[in-house]
Amino acid sequence: MNSSSSSKLIEEAVDQMSSLPGIGRKTALRLVLQLLERNKDEVDRFSRAFVNLKSEVKFCKQCHNISDDLLCHICVNKSRDNGLICVVQDIRDIMAIEATSQYFGQYHVLGGVISPMDGIGPSDLNINSLISRVEENQTKEVIIALKGSMEGETTGFYIYKKMEKLNVKVSTIARGIAVGDELEYADEISLGRSILNRSLYTESLAK
Ligand SMILES: [Zn+2]
Repeated sequence: MNSSSSSKLIEEAVDQMSSLPGIGRKTALRLVLQLLERNKDEVDRFSRAFVNLKSEVKFCKQCHNISDDLLCHICVNKSRDNGLICVVQDIRDIMAIEATSQYFGQYHVLGGVISPMDGIGPSDLNINSLISRVEENQTKEVIIALKGSMEGETTGFYIYKKMEKLNVKVSTIARGIAVGDELEYADEISLGRSILNRSLYTESLAK
């Protein structure tokens, strides 16, 4: 179906809507027409949510999770084990792991993985803040929960090498479960199990 209409306004809205992942032009047109049927207040509220999201969003100064305050709700939660830090690529991974209800430590969001092809090196990621955090907080264990891609593996190894000097246990989530798929898409039960059954990082090197 061709979404070309006589309206430039509709075309522009469809262009924007279909720029989102997983939204084709046909779906975009359906959504745009649906929005058009709503009253002005509703549409204002809808669009304002995204403007505010981008202009007001903050990131936790400790773990780089998304946060409404200086520290996120996980970092300030005293019932969580702050001796345990789970290292993830992005906030979607936190959401996936939280959904398992199997992990009660804290997180550290790298903000990506090392990828020379894309010009992303260790200094572009939140690795230095992880090192100082482990040093300052007497962290007991760092859990590497990165994707099984080559970039994920490289990043995990880089972090492991940095942690070696810090006298902290380094573990990794069970292989062959969340690996291969995006971590965010692993089902909750197997992801939860892979966190509980995590193994020492050195063991994963031997394989
Ligand atoms: Zn935090």
